[in-house]
Amino acid sequence: MTRRLLLIGGGHAHVGVLAALGREPLRDDDGAPWEVTLVSPYERQVYSGMLPGWIAGHYRIEQCVIPLRPLAQRAGVRYVQAHATGLTLAARTVQTDIGETLPFDLVSIDIGPAFDWATLPGAREHAVALRPIEHFIVAWQQLHARLAQAGTVPATIVGGGAGGVEIALAWAHRAQREALPLRLQLVCGRAGPVPTLPPAVGARLRHWLARSEVRLIEDEAAGVHADAVQLAGGEPLPSAGTLAATGAAAVAWPAQAGLAVDARGFIAVDEHLRSTSHPFVFATGDCATMVEHPRPKSGVYAVRAGPPLAFNLRRIAAERAPQRYLPQRRALYLLATGPQHAIGVWGKLVAEGDWVWRWKDWIDRRFMAMYGAEA
Ligand SMILES: Cc1cc2nc3c(=O)[nH]c(=O)nc-3n(C[C@H](O)[C@H](O)[C@H](O)COP(=O)(O)OP(=O)(O)OC[C@H]3O[C@@H](n4cnc5c(N)ncnc54)[C@H](O)[C@@H]3O)c2cc1C
Repeated sequence: MTRRLLLIGGGHAHVGVLAALGREPLRDDDGAPWEVTLVSPYERQVYSGMLPGWIAGHYRIEQCVIPLRPLAQRAGVRYVQAHATGLTLAARTVQTDIGETLPFDLVSIDIGPAFDWATLPGAREHAVALRPIEHFIVAWQQLHARLAQAGTVPATIVGGGAGGVEIALAWAHRAQREALPLRLQLVCGRAGPVPTLPPAVGARLRHWLARSEVRLIEDEAAGVHADAVQLAGGEPLPSAGTLAATGAAAVAWPAQAGLAVDARGFIAVDEHLRSTSHPFVFATGDCATMVEHPRPKSGVYAVRAGPPLAFNLRRIAAERAPQRYLPQRRALYLLATGPQHAIGVWGKLVAEGDWVWRWKDWIDRRFMAMYGAEA
């Protein structure tokens, strides 16, 4: 009987798996091909690393997305356009929001995180959230168009992580390019901008925020109202439009299905990228935590997990032992500052310049070209 692999989500690791399957199909130990299905709600995968460049006006959105359908087609993979909504481990089936139940022998999950609504009361009703990214793309354009008509008004980005700061700087650049009188403010928390990176990065970002006329508010946001952001330490901050770039949370259904998860609900996986509780389940990217080698939730690690994941899926399909995968300890961070300029961070080394942007642009475009994105 034909055996089945189900890929849930077209995330950064799974696009690598699809490309690998395009080069060589998945086969069992006597050479019979497996049937592979991809479940993804959108026909494209947004590459978030280029999103600030899109907001700033340096890229068209088509340059920032990987078309999933042709990638699946080239790999002989069936594409089901749906959200997975549940998993029944005993029956080895996945439920979807289009009513289709999909059986599998092996399943791999790369669905990213969900927005953590609990951290910011009122955000669901009154803010544009970063995730799902496809919603963000539509909602940010609507917000930008509305504020462009509104004259001199304040708009707020809540979140001092790399995503929040890059978006604030990109939006400021866009507003300048379009000569809009938008007044941007970034509520970054008391630890300052990007506290997980070396202090030199924070200092350079402060410089760029000041230069871009983004007001930096080093306080926590306690909630969002229709026309204000409530600061933990003071008065409501008037805000004609608010963008929430605060934390990510785990999607609930993997834990509800009975998969082992870490303390925050992310799928616990071993050194083979397999669930620590159910060896026929693989998980990678932001939705998973390698329990012995935890790493930051970042696209770099999701991309890097693609080749070892593809390799281990082949090994298991052919009834061979999987190989250990040790993720790199450090990742290169390239933070866009609005104009075609970026800050590069490698461990404690920090450098910036237009050349860093050109380097980032080259890396990003080369990556996207591998998967058939528009040039
Ligand atoms: C603005 C911004 C900028 C960033 N810049 C960088 C950067 O420069 N470098 C970096 O390393 N990281 C960056 N990040 C972080 C990066 O986006 C994430 O770490 C990365 O997206 C994680 O990849 P992933 O494959 O785990 O998940 P995702 O990229 O979120 O992909 C998950 C996929 O699964 C699909 N999916 C979701 N739910 C379901 C479901 N129920 N069923 C089926 N499919 C589903 C989604 O549609 C999506 O296609 C940035 C994030 C943001 C928001």
